[in-house]
Amino acid sequence: MKQCVALRTPGGLRLRRRPATARAAAAVLDETPLAVDAAAAVDVAAVGAPDAAVAVVPVGAPAKIRRRPEAQGPVPTLALPGDTLNDEAHMALAVGTSCLASLWGLLHNAQYVSPTTTACAVVAGLVGAELFSGVFHWATDNYGSINTPVFGQACAAFQGHHGAPWTITHRSTINNVHKISRATGVLSLLAGVLLKPFHAIAASVLLFGQVCAQEAHRWSHVPPSSQPKFIRRLQTSGLLLSSVEHGKHHRSPYAEHYCILFGGLNALLDRSGVFRWMERRVFRFNGVEPNSWKDPIGGPAVRAQALR
Ligand SMILES: [Zn+2]
Ligand SMILES: [Zn+2]
Repeated sequence: MKQCVALRTPGGLRLRRRPATARAAAAVLDETPLAVDAAAAVDVAAVGAPDAAVAVVPVGAPAKIRRRPEAQGPVPTLALPGDTLNDEAHMALAVGTSCLASLWGLLHNAQYVSPTTTACAVVAGLVGAELFSGVFHWATDNYGSINTPVFGQACAAFQGHHGAPWTITHRSTINNVHKISRATGVLSLLAGVLLKPFHAIAASVLLFGQVCAQEAHRWSHVPPSSQPKFIRRLQTSGLLLSSVEHGKHHRSPYAEHYCILFGGLNALLDRSGVFRWMERRVFRFNGVEPNSWKDPIGGPAVRAQALR
């Protein structure tokens, strides 16, 4: 026998009286108290929470222990093949190699240009990292599946994250970033060797920025009360994606606020309509509709906006 447990109700009545920023934070932090009976799950449906995640757990299953102080919600059951919450040596190796490769790409190429050029390349890399994090997030949220070549795991991870956003808080840093580090490590080495100094420095920063974005994303799902002080400071100063900013993404139909490094470009990108423009181009090219268009609540409006 199985029992339904309502895990979060970001669109529910309980959140409607809160200020917008509090609502956004609640949507991403999963601070809504867990309901533990089937009746509560029915309540969620009754108030029309469009993106309530419902998990099925066996009745009488022993409570698992949270292994990290910042972990939120129940210990997740992982769906991706080979995924684990454990820290393993190969993860640390991948992350360490990637960080060293990016650092080498920066320092090695900085020898050949002036400090001003290096500074400009670093800034370009940071802006590029924020932009790339948004475009990659948009692409994997809306297209592909676990069966997609090369990017299948990323597509499944980003799409599954909307239904179980607290899972990421159960990961350590190396567990959280080791997969992306495998790609960025190789690409950083190639960029450091093959590109001209300015582009190599910018690329090294951009690639390291993707590792940071994945970690910034994790901390944006942790309530400030469980964050280390320096993370809180970075978030409040806008140097790291904040819970409030990322909470604006975690609402049906998940069609905006895609950047996950600083979140600083989100307003500009959303206002520009660039994601709707790209969706329209993809649709006209191959007839594939993004997942945000298929959302039962907000999807039709997003689709109309993209096609008008
Ligand atoms: Zn998303
Ligand atoms: Zn998230």
